[in-house]
Amino acid sequence: MSEDKVIIVTGGSGLVGKAIEKIVTEEGKEGEKWIFLSSQDGDLCDYAATENIFKKYKPTHVIHLAAMVGGLFHNLSHNLEFLRNNMHINDNVLQLSFETGVKKVVSCLSTCVFPDKTSYPIDETMVHNAPPHPSNYGYSYAKRLIDVANHAYNEQHGCTFTSVIPCNVFGPHDNFNLECSHVIPGLIRKLYNTIEKGEDKFYVLGSGAQLRQFIYSRDLAKLIIWVLRNYEEVEPIILSVDEQAEVTIKQVAEELVKSFNFKGDIVFDKTKSEGQYKKTATNSKLRKYLPNFQFTPFDIAVKETVDWFKANHKIARN
Ligand code: NAP
Ligand code: GDP
Repeated sequence: MSEDKVIIVTGGSGLVGKAIEKIVTEEGKEGEKWIFLSSQDGDLCDYAATENIFKKYKPTHVIHLAAMVGGLFHNLSHNLEFLRNNMHINDNVLQLSFETGVKKVVSCLSTCVFPDKTSYPIDETMVHNAPPHPSNYGYSYAKRLIDVANHAYNEQHGCTFTSVIPCNVFGPHDNFNLECSHVIPGLIRKLYNTIEKGEDKFYVLGSGAQLRQFIYSRDLAKLIIWVLRNYEEVEPIILSVDEQAEVTIKQVAEELVKSFNFKGDIVFDKTKSEGQYKKTATNSKLRKYLPNFQFTPFDIAVKETVDWFKANHKIARN
């Protein structure tokens, strides 16, 4: 069978990449050959290594997920590396996609990259309106440049390079390292360890008042696949749960306590950083395209992730 599309997924071994792999494997759609890459296939910060990947696989389509990714505390201490690594990765992937005639690239921004001081809800037109939150400016400016590059490649060369803007993501295969993870995987590891040690206090960083929208990685995977197949705009599209699904970090902690059936107390360490208070985004553009898309309820997605971690804690990233 000849494949019409050869799709490489950079960052294919990560949280979102693994979720896409699961969905396309279950679908088994004909005419698409999917290749999931990790840093073992080559360092995308390096032009020659990236070129080798494009020569080897000759992709017609690219889902570009690879990035230096981390939670609030990792960003706070490594803004320079987040800026430089992500600028190099993005420039190499987009330039080689152009040079080798890739038909479509879907890259990933994040709702973290929006301005800190903004009106709500945030929409796709606001990416460049004002500076991002100071905690993650390195990551944010590198990501914003993807949108600038997508427009420039389109204007000068007619390329269909676009981007998606997910809200906070979580699910199986996340980074569960206590030092550099996002809140859900970090708290899952922490609560698991608390229970293992027989302790009765579950420590959550900050006051718990911060608000976030969380999308389950498997829902995001379905939406990114839909974007690859159907979305023709260069302008980015926000891939987020509805505004009403926004939760506080306190609610997240309570949901985890329920999933683990933990009987001790939650303790909020108010001396720790909290990052942006909220970054509430509207998914109204997505809803115009897909009015009936069903997001997995938060409690079910949290339970599935906790169960995955319990079964896989020995191999989960740490
Ligand atoms: P992740 O789990 O940390 O995975 C990162 C992926 O990038 C891994 O496959 C990693 O390969 C690869 N990678 C990193 N540096 C590389 C390099 N120099 N060369 C080649 N590959 C490299 O990330 P994720 O959470 O799935 O994020 C996927 C995308 O979604 C990213 O673009 C991120 O910015 C965006 N996003 C994430 C969130 C979130 O909450 N997680 C929210 C919004 C947007 P190895 O496995 O070999 O290290
Ligand atoms: P953000 O959405 O970019 O700020 O990224 P995070 O997922 O790292 O953090 C979200 C919120 O969770 C912040 O307000 C943190 O203070 C709070 N938080 C509470 N406990 C933790 C933890 O153990 N790890 C992380 N990363 N954040 C935590």
